[in-house]
Amino acid sequence: MTMEVDILELSERSAKFILSNANASFANGIRRAALSDVPTLAIDDVNIYNNTSVLFDEQLALRLALTPLTTDIEEFVPAEECTCGSECPACKVSLTLSAEGPRMVYSGDLVSSDANVQPADQHVPIIDLKEGQKVVLEAIARMGYGHDHAKWQAGVACGYKNMPVVRFENCDQCGACVSECPQGIIHIGQNGAEISGDDILKCILCKLCASVCEIDAITVSEDENTFIFSMESDGSYTVQQLIINAGTTIKEKASRLGQILESL
Ligand SMILES: [Zn+2]
Repeated sequence: MTMEVDILELSERSAKFILSNANASFANGIRRAALSDVPTLAIDDVNIYNNTSVLFDEQLALRLALTPLTTDIEEFVPAEECTCGSECPACKVSLTLSAEGPRMVYSGDLVSSDANVQPADQHVPIIDLKEGQKVVLEAIARMGYGHDHAKWQAGVACGYKNMPVVRFENCDQCGACVSECPQGIIHIGQNGAEISGDDILKCILCKLCASVCEIDAITVSEDENTFIFSMESDGSYTVQQLIINAGTTIKEKASRLGQILESL
């Protein structure tokens, strides 16, 4: 059976979908790839020329590093994988920041040397400068992996659960499960208790319904080959690109493994 994807919700930053005819290793592979194996750009080095703000240089650099930057995966490569040997436009982007108080400095104040590389959110507060305080710096962004540092993590809040399967048999319509269900998705239908339509997606597999049923009419289990996914992007990619990149990463790893095995 071929894998299938049913999209439930899709926006620029987040997606909810059902992956069916897949196994747990593949589902977890997609989740892990999105969190740690899809490379993204982040500020990795900061040359501070002037900083008379209340933040230490290190704190300022850390805040800048955690600012998500829009990334084109075709345009950049992680520095250690670049063929240039030192630094080139494919492995390094320079951004500058120059501000004087009194004012709040936002991520959007960073001026990038590459039009495609911009702070994904323009209004992340960096530092509140008081009268006469100044910050002048150059920030160097490089591509890296989430498994090396969280600043390179493109996927945030990526997770899944198995599709819940709840069966009602010989229900005596006592209604105990209806009031016990914390999600409020069980109701009494013509043939007794039931869950209708997409409400099953809200089931959290707590099994309270089964435990409260005096005649054991309810069985709660999960479909091992169907997964309800939630994925969010930090803005460096659209969530759609992030998921595609995660899939590509797995494909590349698998083909590399194949090559290694063949060469043995
Ligand atoms: Zn390079």
